Amino acid sequence: MSFLAATETGFVEKHPLERYAAPAQPSLVGMPRAMLAAALADIGVPEGQRRMRVQQIWHWLYVRGAQDFDAMTTLSKDLRAQLAQRFTPARPPVAAEQISVDGTRKWLIQLPGERAEAPHEVECVYIPETDRGTLCISSQVGCTLNCTFCHTGTQRLVRNLTAAEIAAQVVVARDRLGDWTATSESEPALSERRRLVSNVVLMGMGEPLYNFDAVRDGINVIADGEGLSISKRRITLSTSGVVPNIVRAGAEIGSMLAISLHAVTDELRDQLVPLNRKYPLAELLDACRNYPGLSNARRITFEYVMLKGVNDSLGDAKALVRLLKGIPAKINLIPFNPWPGTKYECSDWDQIEKFSEVVFAAGYASPVRTPRGRDILAACGQLKSASEKLSARERLALRAMAMTD
Ligand code: SAH
Ligand code: SF4
Repeated sequence: MSFLAATETGFVEKHPLERYAAPAQPSLVGMPRAMLAAALADIGVPEGQRRMRVQQIWHWLYVRGAQDFDAMTTLSKDLRAQLAQRFTPARPPVAAEQISVDGTRKWLIQLPGERAEAPHEVECVYIPETDRGTLCISSQVGCTLNCTFCHTGTQRLVRNLTAAEIAAQVVVARDRLGDWTATSESEPALSERRRLVSNVVLMGMGEPLYNFDAVRDGINVIADGEGLSISKRRITLSTSGVVPNIVRAGAEIGSMLAISLHAVTDELRDQLVPLNRKYPLAELLDACRNYPGLSNARRITFEYVMLKGVNDSLGDAKALVRLLKGIPAKINLIPFNPWPGTKYECSDWDQIEKFSEVVFAAGYASPVRTPRGRDILAACGQLKSASEKLSARERLALRAMAMTD
């Protein structure tokens, strides 16, 4: 079966090659409350008790970070044994970890494939800043779309992540960073110190709005105030512009929104983000204008990847601020992170600075104007990749992307 399908507009969307195949002993980690209740029903927990049991397990998994059913001491021994027979509290394994000198960490997280011998991998990145720690998570293995400057866009769409797999990335990060509430009386409660993972961005692999239900349910697990407790104001969903699902996201998710704009004319955006042929700029910006709850304190982030000689002229910068007029917006200039075989280059630092001056003069606090942003973007194209395993360029792009609120 072909994995490509042409639509009437000539736009090409990819279909998944695989479906999620649940392992014989599924993990409870990341499961939405309703699924967890169904899992308890499966092992014979009477209906009248399920709510309370879900509540208890929720606390152990998402407040305490328990990795073992035996640690869940508020559950009876029998129930713990029953749980252990059918389920696990296991996290998806981390296949590789890279840690940079600046504290950025990248994990390759392994997920089950349809064939046990061919597991999948998605990326999850932690970006620490002085005032926050942002976790960048994935929503698909590969991507439905094919943006020409994006490495994931060149790959096949293998499958959608489940809601549990989306939320489990936060659990993996909290494990790795030791970001859990105290598990014993002697440890200081974490609520008294700053959370390491304070923000989440759906900017890893995949187009979240082509995996809508799982993304909505996964975000609800991450935002649950009795569990992982990262509020929706600190969760940003980034989309290349799936217009009908932006409307749904406004109604059904209510997270912050980031739009991968990258071009100010349909002609150029058709090339960079081919989804534009299906949902052109005017429709996309209308959906943004109508996104619920926007105000100066709650703005849409517009991402704009700086591509040398392609979209980085001062004319583009002026057109960008004209285009966004009337929308409570934040503009994030992202230095392009090159990958082997790409035809694009990152804009020169001088050009990025000039571009950002236009954006700044129009009243936008562009990252390049902030001390932090200056730090980040000044180095675009200038840093030699040092001995760290993540390239300097990649770290720069990630840091710029993480500046969402
Ligand atoms: N599919 C979603 C979210 C994942 S991509 C989306 O497109 O919005 C997250 C962000 O990274 C997007 O703004 C995307 O355009 C940008 N991006 C992709 N490849 C990049 C690269 N090589 N360098 C810099 N930014 C890139
Ligand atoms: Fe997919 Fe986003 Fe990459 Fe486009 S930029 S191919 S939508 S991951």
